[in-house]
Amino acid sequence: MTAPEQRRRRGGRLCHCCKAEQPFCWSCTCGFAICPACFADNKWGLSNGPTWICPDCGRVHLLE
Ligand SMILES: [Zn+2]
Ligand SMILES: [Zn+2]
Repeated sequence: MTAPEQRRRRGGRLCHCCKAEQPFCWSCTCGFAICPACFADNKWGLSNGPTWICPDCGRVHLLE
C-alpha cells in the first residue's frame, strides 16, 4: 500500500541541485534527486560512464 499523494506530485520531481520541480530526475532511494541539466553540470563528480553515484549516500545507480 503506497500513499498516492507522494507518487503523483504533478508528475514532477524536486531536483536537489537547482531546487526546482523537474519533469524528470534521476533519483536515489535515499531521496536525493537530480535533473538532467544539473547532472550534466556535475557529471565529472557524479558519473563514471554507465553509472552515477549518489552524493548523499554513495549508492551507485545505473544510468537509464
Ligand atoms: Zn536541477
Ligand atoms: Zn542516495
